[in-house]
Amino acid sequence: MKQFAAALFFASTVVAQPFHSMVAYPDIGTYFNQPIQDASVWVPHTVVQWPAGSLPSSCAVQMASRGCQPSQVQVYNVTYQDCDRPWVFCRCETAPVHIGRSADIFGRMPVHMRSMVRHPMIVPNPNGACCCAAPDDGDLMVAGDCPIPTYAHEVGHLIDNRADVFGQDYSSKPAFVNALATDTCSISNYGNTAGRHEEFAEMSIAVLYNINTGLLPAVAPGATTGCFNNQLNLIKTRFGAQYYTYGGTCVGRLPDSPTVPASLRVKVKREHLVGRSGWCRFNQENL
Ligand SMILES: [Zn+2]
Repeated sequence: MKQFAAALFFASTVVAQPFHSMVAYPDIGTYFNQPIQDASVWVPHTVVQWPAGSLPSSCAVQMASRGCQPSQVQVYNVTYQDCDRPWVFCRCETAPVHIGRSADIFGRMPVHMRSMVRHPMIVPNPNGACCCAAPDDGDLMVAGDCPIPTYAHEVGHLIDNRADVFGQDYSSKPAFVNALATDTCSISNYGNTAGRHEEFAEMSIAVLYNINTGLLPAVAPGATTGCFNNQLNLIKTRFGAQYYTYGGTCVGRLPDSPTVPASLRVKVKREHLVGRSGWCRFNQENL
């Protein structure tokens, strides 16, 4: 298990040449957490817990790989007023945040961003501050009480990986590569040094805020206002109306993972922990 943990850490700590010497918002949460919360739209919702005894199979696997057995997983239907089909949330009974809080924060993203997510999972958080998520199957795993920008970052990975051509990161396509190269800064320290997919995910935070308010927080001292506008305008043009804008109803949602009995004995395979497109692509401790 120790070896797995080491591999996970290594895989999530991408050391790359910075894209730019200038960064607009070094620690992006400092600049966006409160403004996005203030600008978010709260959607009325209901939370109904499943009877004990069953859970979605992907929850069983992902939770077990983090030391939470199927019998410890609480399952909830969270139904938001803007979508008649509930999201099935899974929460480990040892997770450090309440289902009500998680359902509230998830619901403050536009319904089209939520629609990219199959199962929100509230997983154990043995390391304290880590919030990370977003594998390639649409599941979003969050450890701890994370703010809206954390969720927006993770959904940004899903949009990057699924919204243009499924399985092909838009952040690797010439349009985005060129926009980033033409810009004179990266959006954040993390985006600047952890690869284009992280820059795209960090940009998702700015896009979500800007497309709904017309505003952006003032950039850090030494950075130039508008220095990431090529990326901003590209993502807004390509994905803005479809995903990042408030309003509308859910479309194109993924089917839920099949339901399995909580008595299931889950064999955790190495590929559940590493090698997928998302686990720990975002870690607040890395910012
Ligand atoms: Zn990430």
